[in-house]
Amino acid sequence: MLAGAVEQFRPGEKRCRRDKHQCICDRLMSESRTAAAFGINLPVYHSFSYGLDSDCQARIGQRYRLPFGNDFKIGILVELGAATAPEQTLKSAAEAIDNEATLSPHLIELATWLADYYCQPIGEVLFQFLPRYLRGRQPLKSVALESWTASPTADVDLEQLQRRAPRQYELLIHLRQHATGLTPGELRAIHPQWRTPMRTLHQRGLVTCTLCDPVSLQALDRDQPPELSQEQAGVVEGMSAELDGFHVHLLQGITGSGKTEVYLAAMQTVIERGGQVLYLVPEIGLTPQLFNRVQRRLGAVVVASHSAQTDYQRFQAWEQFRRGAAAVMLGTRSALLSDAPRLQLIVVDEEHDASYRQQDGVRYHARDVAIKRAQMLDLPVVLGSATPSTETLFNLARPHYRHHRLTRRPGTAQPPHLQLIDSSRVEMDHGCTPQLLQAIQQEVQRGGQVLLFLNRRGYAPVVMCHACGWQSVCHQCDARLTLHQSMQRLICHHCGYSEIVPDTCPQCGNADIHHHGVGTEKLQHFMQRRFESTPVVRIDRDSVSDARQMERLLQPVQAGEPCILIGTQMLAKGHDYPNITLAGIIDVDQALYSGFYRASERLAQIVVQVAGRTGRAERSGRALLQTAFPDHPLMQGLLQQDYEQLVDLIMQERRLVGFPPYLRAITITADAVTLDAAMQRLQTLRSVLVDAGIGADVQVIGPIPALMTRRVGRYRAQFSLLAADMRKLRRALALLLPGIQGASGGKRVKLVVEVDPIDL
Ligand SMILES: [Zn+2]
Ligand SMILES: [Zn+2]
Repeated sequence: MLAGAVEQFRPGEKRCRRDKHQCICDRLMSESRTAAAFGINLPVYHSFSYGLDSDCQARIGQRYRLPFGNDFKIGILVELGAATAPEQTLKSAAEAIDNEATLSPHLIELATWLADYYCQPIGEVLFQFLPRYLRGRQPLKSVALESWTASPTADVDLEQLQRRAPRQYELLIHLRQHATGLTPGELRAIHPQWRTPMRTLHQRGLVTCTLCDPVSLQALDRDQPPELSQEQAGVVEGMSAELDGFHVHLLQGITGSGKTEVYLAAMQTVIERGGQVLYLVPEIGLTPQLFNRVQRRLGAVVVASHSAQTDYQRFQAWEQFRRGAAAVMLGTRSALLSDAPRLQLIVVDEEHDASYRQQDGVRYHARDVAIKRAQMLDLPVVLGSATPSTETLFNLARPHYRHHRLTRRPGTAQPPHLQLIDSSRVEMDHGCTPQLLQAIQQEVQRGGQVLLFLNRRGYAPVVMCHACGWQSVCHQCDARLTLHQSMQRLICHHCGYSEIVPDTCPQCGNADIHHHGVGTEKLQHFMQRRFESTPVVRIDRDSVSDARQMERLLQPVQAGEPCILIGTQMLAKGHDYPNITLAGIIDVDQALYSGFYRASERLAQIVVQVAGRTGRAERSGRALLQTAFPDHPLMQGLLQQDYEQLVDLIMQERRLVGFPPYLRAITITADAVTLDAAMQRLQTLRSVLVDAGIGADVQVIGPIPALMTRRVGRYRAQFSLLAADMRKLRRALALLLPGIQGASGGKRVKLVVEVDPIDL
């Protein structure tokens, strides 16, 4: 339940600075007032109580302007009538911004659940549900546009009109040339003062005006669906039987098996009965190609929401979906928080992708919130992946989960052939073994396409002086600075700090500074030198800022020309490269001995995904995996290419050491100016648990310094709570809440709670 905070109000004491004569804060306290709780976008765990006149038509989810200190803030009404103090003592909420609720009761319920489950501040959570455009004082409005057309039947003497009213004539001629209508923006381009002459034309019955949505179905050709393979058809049939009510359908299909066609078929079923669909994809997976494909196939209005859009574009998509004018919202993580009056299906593509977890601000996992939302609304959710996460595979044992498999590629396409290359006994050239270089040479000579996966951007990860041993390290983090040669800078990948590459050693003045290791930038230079006539394309966060740019870079790959494609894990995200016949996986060994408990799961996912990019069309592909540990069980498991077998191996390990998904976890991280302060704060919290006798059911690990202790100039320590039962964990967390929420320590120590964290 939301706790109400009360700011005492004494009539006459405080006066509104905006308007001394009609200040609503100074209004006499009437008897007929209701207490109301509001969420304000602040990092506090409670809502704020204000008084509302009983006769006003307040609605849950409505936005209000609230007096706050000497200023105003925007609040979202979450509860009516729950007074935490006598109504008369409450400050009056100033005014409603909109006449209607901005967030539906369902979204308020979902936000309240999210804030409670993930232990995040309620106001911040509520504001995540609003598009950025509405987080200030902008009123909520419809984004439908006027569309003006010439009345086809109206008869008019054009010559006379041209003589007597040239502006009306000009507008009419333009409208007659545009049968689908012109918007105010387009009319303004024809004539800045178009309103007045248009009004006259309207009065004379020569033009008509209709309201239409910015994305609508005008002139949309519908594509015929391709014929489904027997396997696809079987899955579609099985899924359609359970598209009512709460079910979690896991669609596990190998890369290239046509999962999207199955999603589209399920979406079609739901849209035909008047429903709306939320279709989530990972950050970089939302391409214009996918958008067009969905829109043309479904013949329905589809809106998109992603981070490359302006605030207003995102608001437009949000508003059309909220009004029910759009049938599908295609978007990244935060699109899940959009409202829809007739939501009947949620699709989460590449459900294992880490971008569904919000890592800063409000921490939640969009896949898990999608499942909760589907449960609340009693509707189905489809999770798709070639490499499902361990959590999802674990959850398959639950009664409402369904498992569907696609094991074959449609048509004649063959799955790739995977081979290990032992890199421990050979001389490497720029991170590549002679065997790999030879295979690339052969492929390029045959006019083929090659994909090289290297999960390290920049030129070189280590810059050092051989004379004195100096290394370039970040002065704010426990991390090295990576050399980015194209920018001539050393950059920290953790805090973004950068400096110019020094000419001489800053420590001893030696002019001979060396760089070691290979990043994507260095690999690109090397490949370009070695294979001069073949284009080399690089895909990483430095070369790609959004999906559109990625699509531009990938044009030669899509066109099927011979080329070498180099990239980080960005490459493995849902894009089709139909002509790649060789994949080289360069340096994955660090994952075998990483402190990150999910490293082996990630490695398995990446290798299976990257290998799966090859041989999509008629030609079979092969994937070469370089490792210095070819006998490691995980490497041997990868060789078998059976993802489920690999996951079994990983799960056995997790069960043995007692890690998720066998146990549930909550981590609490303290971030402070000294490591001591961070550790002490956590020790205090821990002692609360010890005093309460928690320990039998809940395992407490730590506090210990975090894996990367110093980051952005602050020191981090953490402790984890682990238990088989989430309810027990939550009981332990409840004991800690007063200590976490009481903001003692202020800016000196910052606490972050993560429920179901992706790392421990
Ligand atoms: Zn030196
Ligand atoms: Zn740094």
